[in-house]
Amino acid sequence: MHYISTRNTSKDYSFKEIFIKGLADDGGLFVPKVLKKYDQEALKNLKKLNYLDLAKEIIFPFLGDFISKQELYNLLKKSYSTFREDEIVKFQDLGEIKILELFHGPTLAFKDIAMQFIGNLYEYYLTKEDKKINIVVATSGDTGAAAIDAIKEKNNLNIFVLHPNNKISNVQRKIMTTVESSNVFNIAINGNFDDCQNIVKSMFSDLEFSKSINMSGVNSINWARIIAQAVYYFYSYFKINSENLVSFSVPTGNFGDVYAGYLSKKIGLPIDRLIVATNQNDILHRAISSGEYIAKKVKETISPSMDIQIASNFERLIFDIKKNNSDLTKKIMEEIKNNSYIVSLEDLNEIRKNFLSESISEEETLEIISDIYQKYDLILDPHSAIGIGALQKLKLSKNVISLATAHPSKFPEAISKAINKTADLPKQFEDILLKKEKFKVLDNNIDKIKKYVKQKVYEN
Ligand SMILES: *Cc1c(COP(=O)(O)O)cnc(C)c1O
Repeated sequence: MHYISTRNTSKDYSFKEIFIKGLADDGGLFVPKVLKKYDQEALKNLKKLNYLDLAKEIIFPFLGDFISKQELYNLLKKSYSTFREDEIVKFQDLGEIKILELFHGPTLAFKDIAMQFIGNLYEYYLTKEDKKINIVVATSGDTGAAAIDAIKEKNNLNIFVLHPNNKISNVQRKIMTTVESSNVFNIAINGNFDDCQNIVKSMFSDLEFSKSINMSGVNSINWARIIAQAVYYFYSYFKINSENLVSFSVPTGNFGDVYAGYLSKKIGLPIDRLIVATNQNDILHRAISSGEYIAKKVKETISPSMDIQIASNFERLIFDIKKNNSDLTKKIMEEIKNNSYIVSLEDLNEIRKNFLSESISEEETLEIISDIYQKYDLILDPHSAIGIGALQKLKLSKNVISLATAHPSKFPEAISKAINKTADLPKQFEDILLKKEKFKVLDNNIDKIKKYVKQKVYEN
């Protein structure tokens, strides 16, 4: 499969190139040049497969000659061996609504599903090519933890994780900062998540710097993450065995997870709507409901992994809506940069064929957690509650799957506020709050941060 950048369609890239680069040199995101669609017959065959075999079939066509099918299967098997569920994901019934729990991996959030896979994909590639790289990633809490777990103790790789100082939950931070591995570096930035993300972006676009440390990224724009996430859309659709089109409610921040659903639809999965469920950082909800894609100041919420005003993967949707026209996409990205983008009515109609949206307030989130706990004896984490809240507001309950993206024990402060008790941490985390933490606090100053990273790279 060949890939192109959303900002320049004249150059072709291989999977190997786009995997290691993450972001195109022109600032664009990588997308496949052409997509092959599954027909009825092909879907029928996929339906019979277990999670690992399905993952192999869905992912393989995107990798080209990067890896053999058998080696891919081995990597997938290794990636999901640490999960607490045999079939990786798990269903819960909430009346008519199906909940798809995606948080049974090593760091208790759905990001493990993609990150464990790409950690092994890196190792496979670097061992084969005898290369060394440094991964730098910004996190609003869960990406960093998932990335660290996936990269720790791996050869030829260091990982630097930037999180907003004091703006993520204690458990989220401790899962990252108590990892004892000499290739892991946690940095707390005095700023918010968008600051962290901007720092990483400008490190990438400083080619002299990024080349000097052989820098690579695992943030949610990495295409390998998107394809690993598409797998559970297929898997859950097949498992609920519906004759109808199915809609998915997706707690959304960077538009990565929900974009994986969109990709699934584009390659033939019978999806009706993808519901973009946001917290009070509702730029995507405002964009889809009124066309106003205008960033406001980031608000801190009890669903911190969605406290985002710049939804990076939205560029892929714009490119698609603009029928792969990279000039128009570039123009719109310029408008987004100037915070003046209004989606045209024509484009909105196109978007609404595939997406609905809702935004959920802090109080509503707490009410949903409490309500679901009382009715079903099930504790939802605040992110997952937002997915359910969006369905309730849209009055949808038939043929819907709501994604549960984090384990409730990761957010004890919010859960206890909602139901006056907390959810138990899975066994392996029982002593995490007592473990010693290691992280460096740095100001939101790009030069100082670059200097720190470079120094650590040389020391290591
Ligand atoms: C990252 C994250 C999200 C948002 O996912 P995106 O792909 O950024 O839209 C939602 N919930 C949880 C728990 C997360 O960690």
